Amino acid sequence: MKKILAEILAIGDELLYGQTLDTNSHWISGEMDKIGINVIRRTTVGDVESEMLTAFSEAEQRADVILITGGLGPTSDDLTKPCLAKYFNCGLAINEEALAEVTEFFKRRGRELTERNRQQAALPTACIKITNPIGTAPGMWFDKGDKVFMSMPGVPHEMKRMIIEQVIPRLQKKYTLPVIHHKIIRTIGIGESFLAETITEWEQSLPPHFKLAYLPSLGEVKLRLTGMGDSLADLQREADALTDQVKPFIESFIYGYGDDPIERVIGRLLRDKKLTLSIAESCTGGYVSHLITTIPGSSDYFKGSMVAYSNEVKISRLGVKAETLERFGAVSEETVFEMANAVKLKFGSDIGIATSGIAGPDGGTPDKPVGTIWIAYADNDQTLTKKLQLTSDRLLNIRYTAAAVLNMIRQSIPN
Ligand code: AMP
Ligand code: MG
Repeated sequence: MKKILAEILAIGDELLYGQTLDTNSHWISGEMDKIGINVIRRTTVGDVESEMLTAFSEAEQRADVILITGGLGPTSDDLTKPCLAKYFNCGLAINEEALAEVTEFFKRRGRELTERNRQQAALPTACIKITNPIGTAPGMWFDKGDKVFMSMPGVPHEMKRMIIEQVIPRLQKKYTLPVIHHKIIRTIGIGESFLAETITEWEQSLPPHFKLAYLPSLGEVKLRLTGMGDSLADLQREADALTDQVKPFIESFIYGYGDDPIERVIGRLLRDKKLTLSIAESCTGGYVSHLITTIPGSSDYFKGSMVAYSNEVKISRLGVKAETLERFGAVSEETVFEMANAVKLKFGSDIGIATSGIAGPDGGTPDKPVGTIWIAYADNDQTLTKKLQLTSDRLLNIRYTAAAVLNMIRQSIPN
């Protein structure tokens, strides 16, 4: 089956100035993926005729479907429409149906139709008008042999409605589209290159209609298997079989699949085993608790937490020994060991967790540089500690520590 390639073209000076984030392209990419169209490039250009014309012709050379958003407003700064007319070598003329629609749009709102608004119904004669049910700028569909140009308003909700209700059905009618299926395998605690080395053979044996991607973020690496074919059920079966093949090599690092974040996976584990959790957070300032409580129903297993930030609170409220803090410091194995056990006792939970570290950007010493972080896990049978040596970026350290703590819980929960 022939791959159908698409390019997305976002038009607007505001996108290039950094004033508006191009969310349209991101969203359209996702929708094209769902219907089996391969987006191969996304481009942003300003409201400048020469830039647009170059972008149209370049996109036409590479792609079958060119999806354009922006530049359809009634004001003189929006130039997409005259540029399209120029590109397709045709004039602009009032489209009677579009005029009726825009007139009705204004009538419903009790507003008078100005000449400027009337001009929104002037369309390149080469296009098929696409109705905009919630705005004044119609969309424009241009067939050019096997290729198609589709121009839509920049306003996100108008564009989205047009894509869902009209563009996608038209694309599905024009092309025979394959099915694209993604399967995400979520790993934690193994670096990207080490992971790649571990699964090299499996990766090399993937069938040609499957592609593998490594998506790293904060201690995690997602493996994305993307298959293309004509039956979703077949692709799902194949992706599951491929996953079963790779599992034995990386089993201990896999914590979940698809959209399941680790905090949800841990929640399920705790609930299934009827275990409760409490947390004493120093350097993470409550962030681990925040992640845990983003999961609906976390009250089933999460008892609570104490942000024990100062030494004084660690001693008087949590119950860490003053002597421990004096001898070893707040950022030490001994301190997190006591914190985890103290919070477990105080909150009456099965598991206690602790974090303490130098999050940065300064505050380090030669033997405890910035980014030195200790974490601990305690249950009724064991207390585990771990030292992390992270960066000087405060927020990154907090997020990375939380990921490490969650992984520690996952690995240590008693059976
Ligand atoms: P326009 O069709 O150029 O008049 O765009 C109207 C409005 O839509 C702009 O003022 C932006 O706020 C918004 N917009 C345009 N392009 C995008 C885009 N690519 N992503 C998100 N918003 C956009
Ligand atoms: Mg604009």
